[in-house]
Amino acid sequence: MIWNVEEFTRAAGVTVERLAAYVEESQRGLPPVVARRPPRELAERLGLARWIREGGMTPEGYAGFLAVYLAEGTRLHHPASLGHQVASPDFPAALADFVHGAANNPMAIYEMGASAATVEFEVLRWMLDKAGYGETGGGVLTHGGSLANLTALLAARAAAAPRAWTDGVPADLALLAPESAHYSLTRAAAILGLGERAVMPLDTDPLGRIDVARLPAALERVRRAGRRPMALVANACSTGTGLYDDLRGIGAFCAAHGVWFHVDGAHGASALLSAGHRRLLDGIELADSMIWDAHKMLRTSSLAAAVLTRREGDLDAAFRQRASYLFYGDQGFDLIGRTVECSKAELGLKVFLNLAWRGERGLGDYVARQYAAAHRLWELGRERPGFTFPYEPESNIVCFRYGAGDQAEIRERLMDEGAFHLTSAEIGGVRHLRATVMAPATDDKTLEALLDRIAGA
Ligand SMILES: *Cc1c(COP(=O)(O)O)cnc(C)c1O
Repeated sequence: MIWNVEEFTRAAGVTVERLAAYVEESQRGLPPVVARRPPRELAERLGLARWIREGGMTPEGYAGFLAVYLAEGTRLHHPASLGHQVASPDFPAALADFVHGAANNPMAIYEMGASAATVEFEVLRWMLDKAGYGETGGGVLTHGGSLANLTALLAARAAAAPRAWTDGVPADLALLAPESAHYSLTRAAAILGLGERAVMPLDTDPLGRIDVARLPAALERVRRAGRRPMALVANACSTGTGLYDDLRGIGAFCAAHGVWFHVDGAHGASALLSAGHRRLLDGIELADSMIWDAHKMLRTSSLAAAVLTRREGDLDAAFRQRASYLFYGDQGFDLIGRTVECSKAELGLKVFLNLAWRGERGLGDYVARQYAAAHRLWELGRERPGFTFPYEPESNIVCFRYGAGDQAEIRERLMDEGAFHLTSAEIGGVRHLRATVMAPATDDKTLEALLDRIAGA
């Protein structure tokens, strides 16, 4: 069926109107931040079975559907949205998703989307420059940080065991990572054929930060176990606590011992854009590879993640042994050789449009503001009886406890009330409440209200 362009225009208008109202009321904190209707009831309310069976949606029917759909979801623009590290998307990125949905230039090869591929290329060059890799670095955008970590470790595997792609994986490879590393790294080790047991934990401080002084001992353990380090992973920042590892210290150690250094900057690499926070990533240019999610702190929808390597050839080696066929001539270039995916979405466009609208400066200011808000929660909470904070936050993630009781129960209560969306994390085996300040609408009033609500005032 060809598009009825008049119908499309009306339906798109409905979408814009509904979304505008949705974001407006969310930003003002009017409706509940999360809805928790049971799935069966929700399917009924949305009329899913009937729509699937009968079809026949019109712009009017769609308007009604969309209103319920949005109202029954989770509101990431809401000031009380303090749960997961999922972006509160900015509208230029939302426009990019819309454009992609209609134009669908899937970017597997240059001829399937010259503009999309060129935008991705330039966005990557910008990211490489920010990371300090410059002209000699390589990059690719992929669907999410988990896939990005897998891709970076594949490059590390190709460096440590160049024949693994054709002959299989040697049994002696090890991946060194702190237990605070994101679970996608252990998964990647399993997917890459190393096996979970090849992940050897690094010594950390009680907050899960890599203990640089104990790195030689870790390397010695790996060697005594008859293994070779394939890569060492550091957090920038860690998912649970939002704390950064000492990248310069770790990077220097890795360089001295010829160990591939991978930095998981999924959440925290965006601090490179804030003059006041760039020091947290000091030493990142020493990393052999890093990842950086745009769908966390660059305010794009899920998913858009970058894999960056200090040497371009390392990334090309990830999926094959021959040299790069990437070129920037009359025929364009193909990045398909650098990803797990064949087709992929126009990921560069959403990063680009946010940059084009807000500027690097605007995105940096956003990061600085959100990091400051988490710090503010720490300042305000510390003064109140019953609240304990195990550390001063470095990013927009902060963990704390209220009282000695079950913290998960507090979280459940807040979510049932629709008042606040928090998550929780274990630190040293103790469950903490965890706030991630993603929405620009979160202010001091929100944070005071959160502390009031937790304390039951
Ligand atoms: C979120 C996160 C990931 C996973 O990224 P996805 O895009 O959700 O797959 C990996 N590492 C860290 C440190 C993260 O915070």
